[in-house]
Amino acid sequence: MQNPFEPYINEPYTVTKPEVAEAFKTHLQEGATRLGQDWPLVIGGEHITTGHWIESHDPCNTSRLVGRAAAAQAEHVDQAVQAALDAQPAWGARPMVERARALAKLAAIMRRRRWELAAWEVYEAGKNYLEAEADVAEAIDFCDYYARQAMTLDDILPTHDFKGEENTTTLQPVGVGVVIPPWNFLLAIMVGTAVAPVVTGNTVVLKPSPKTPIIAGVFMDIVHEAGFPAGVINLLTGEDAVLGDALVEHEHTRFINFTGSVATGLKIHEKAAKIRPNQQFLKKTFLELGGKDALIVDETADLDAAADAAVASAFGFQGQKCSAMSRLIVVDAVHDALLERVKTRMERLTVGEATDNADVCAVIDETQYQKILGFIDRAKATATLELGGAPAREGGWYIQPTLFSNVDPDSELAQEEVFGPVVAMLRARDFDHAIELANGTRYALTGGLFSRLRDRIERARQEVRVGNLYINRKITGSLVGTQPFGGFDMSGTNSKAGGPDYLRLFMEAKTVTERF
Ligand code: NAD
Repeated sequence: MQNPFEPYINEPYTVTKPEVAEAFKTHLQEGATRLGQDWPLVIGGEHITTGHWIESHDPCNTSRLVGRAAAAQAEHVDQAVQAALDAQPAWGARPMVERARALAKLAAIMRRRRWELAAWEVYEAGKNYLEAEADVAEAIDFCDYYARQAMTLDDILPTHDFKGEENTTTLQPVGVGVVIPPWNFLLAIMVGTAVAPVVTGNTVVLKPSPKTPIIAGVFMDIVHEAGFPAGVINLLTGEDAVLGDALVEHEHTRFINFTGSVATGLKIHEKAAKIRPNQQFLKKTFLELGGKDALIVDETADLDAAADAAVASAFGFQGQKCSAMSRLIVVDAVHDALLERVKTRMERLTVGEATDNADVCAVIDETQYQKILGFIDRAKATATLELGGAPAREGGWYIQPTLFSNVDPDSELAQEEVFGPVVAMLRARDFDHAIELANGTRYALTGGLFSRLRDRIERARQEVRVGNLYINRKITGSLVGTQPFGGFDMSGTNSKAGGPDYLRLFMEAKTVTERF
């Protein structure tokens, strides 16, 4: 069937306009009146409380309770998977266009409620105004883009004719799956990784991060408002120790759509590979994992532009992006000049509450805060601390934007993902050495180059091993449908969210041959 929707465009950001930012403060005040509520599980369309709760607190002001989410228990895993199993045949049998319309509707509701959603992001994750709006915009984009992409999978796939026979290859849903998103793009990745399998006819159990469960409850309200049938998307909030293995290993869950750390991803990979007693199929895992993303700056680069891009890529959302620049690799000839420019810009960053739209806000929780400070303390022994390196303020999980130079390329700071506002600056002898350093970790997610030389840009295109390479711009902020996102190596299975092949992952092809 032809695509009935208007052409896809990325949802624009507007909060950079002062009058919009001012108006957003009113939405934040309204949002504050919704804080502290209880949010249920949603299983087969029923709202369920369990007598157990997980609390979500504002990382910028830890005394502020964002809400309590019901903590699912072991029995709810079976109930949720059963609800998804019950709903799948009818949902999967619907015409693609009906499911695509449901996504278009989700996008429209989120567009109408964008400032309410953005306010939740500010309170629950400590996103400043632009980061919050961008996350909402990305969630809208995923729905709009996948609605249109789904229509391309509705047809019989092109194959060659064979005399005397009819041959058709068509796509069908895989079945029931588990969706496990991280907390950092709390709305966008959660929505994107859930609606992609759903639009292609699968049903899912969504298990959000216990660090940001409230936005998931809000999303389920929108799912209900959009008219999704009961059981198509089921929500289990709760503790990973109770839910993680139980969902991954469940005999009826056929795929796991995971985004998160390498450590968790590898556990899921291993557990999903093992066949359980009543399991009659191979589980598929889609694992989008961490990064140790590098920006290379050579001696021909526009150093002011490079410093702007480095600081934006490193400290946007406190460095808590899989795409965040955590290594700045600079050719010796301009190393010191760039260092000064980066420091000047870092000194201008404001650290404070997300509600006040600070540049750098609190990191997500105490565990992450302690982990980041641990990285910083260990790095102090071997590298040169140029700026930051300590807690920044009271009241929340604030860490100063931190820069180390003279970092040993083999050290922990140069090799491991910190996932916080910490940058390792590495000195390269020349451009060849810079590429070698950039490729010298187990990750291959995002990366970038600042250079004015055409042949170096061409070499970087070929030789820098990352799933998303950015030239002469910042290395974060991929756009759905424009920059399909996902890496290689330990950065994951390269499913390329927001790309033209993504939906195909959640479908199986069937070929029928009839001889006449
Ligand atoms: P995480 O691995 O701690 O958690 C990810 C999800 O897995 C959460 O929902 C968590 O509750 C769940 N989980 C934890 N233990 C589990 C278990 N044993 N079984 C099943 N589920 C379990 O990661 P995080 O801290 O939430 O997210 C940050 C990480 O995600 C970083 O490494 C970041 O680079 C990565 N990330 C990658 C991408 C990408 O597209 N490649 C995008 C965003 C974030």
